[in-house]
Amino acid sequence: MQSSAVGRYGFTPFAGSNGGRNSVPVKASGVSVHHHPRRRRPENVDGEFFVDHTCIDCDACRWMAPQSFTRVGEQSAVFNQPSCGEERLKALQALLSCPTASIHTEKPPHDILEVQKTFPLPIDEQRIPGVYHCGYHSKKSFGAASYLIVHPDGNILVDSPSYKETLAKRIEMLGGARYMFLTHKDDVADHDRWAKRLNCERILHSEEVQSGTSAVEMQLQGEGPWSLGSDFELIFTPGHTEGCMCLLYKPLKVLFSGDHFANSRDNELTIFENYNWYSVPKQIESVRKLLDYEFEWILPGHGRRAKFRDTQEKDSAVKALLTIKEKGLLQLA
Ligand SMILES: [Zn+2]
Repeated sequence: MQSSAVGRYGFTPFAGSNGGRNSVPVKASGVSVHHHPRRRRPENVDGEFFVDHTCIDCDACRWMAPQSFTRVGEQSAVFNQPSCGEERLKALQALLSCPTASIHTEKPPHDILEVQKTFPLPIDEQRIPGVYHCGYHSKKSFGAASYLIVHPDGNILVDSPSYKETLAKRIEMLGGARYMFLTHKDDVADHDRWAKRLNCERILHSEEVQSGTSAVEMQLQGEGPWSLGSDFELIFTPGHTEGCMCLLYKPLKVLFSGDHFANSRDNELTIFENYNWYSVPKQIESVRKLLDYEFEWILPGHGRRAKFRDTQEKDSAVKALLTIKEKGLLQLA
């Protein structure tokens, strides 16, 4: 893992993708922690909630419960104990979503079953009704976020949360899923268990198919674009990987971007060049392609969400990103 990436984005977008999740930090305050990876990091403030030494710096708790979690020394820590019901709820939702189960409470939380029932989490009921964050990030996809879209023509799961029966029951109550759209090979996690449980058809580009995904029902060929009904367009955006795709929910102007691009912690649109597995120039080309589409929201796998005032503001952000990245390419050439 390159520290420059960590420094630039303030988190490790593909935490654990170098196998780091199996090792624990060697030192904390100069003391070896090899034998106690599950103990409390000294960087946490005193109190009920804490993060242990197995944190892979995926950033999820920090955007899910920003009042409680922050980044200290390349891992998360509690900087502010939850002080009201709302903060406690968010901290427990983060605890349940942590891909490495690195968040704990001193006493078993009496309200954890109630919190389980809050998933999937509506993202913005007023502006994008029916769009949910699934939570339960999987360490198999390096802690990527996944989503559920509730739609009259059939619901769509976007990428794969960790398989949890409680979540499956909640998704069933919302109408189950007709499709499971997989943005690319990194974020497929428990796709097979979800597909069996919900009886949904999986969609993945053929360039992304590997042995674990050879049974995917719809393997797309070529460069598209493809449609699902009249509301969804599947956009071919190679670069991060050879066949990664974005999903555009046209009426609500939401782009599900996978690992193609996202906001950084500094609230600027970015691509994660140090975690590019195919071609940075192609990825930049695919970012340019998105100037042709109308959207105001970006819901990514890794990185932070983006919400723009309108498509014009989105275009300005995309152009600003392109200016920086294309200049970088010229300097490299
Ligand atoms: Zn990826």
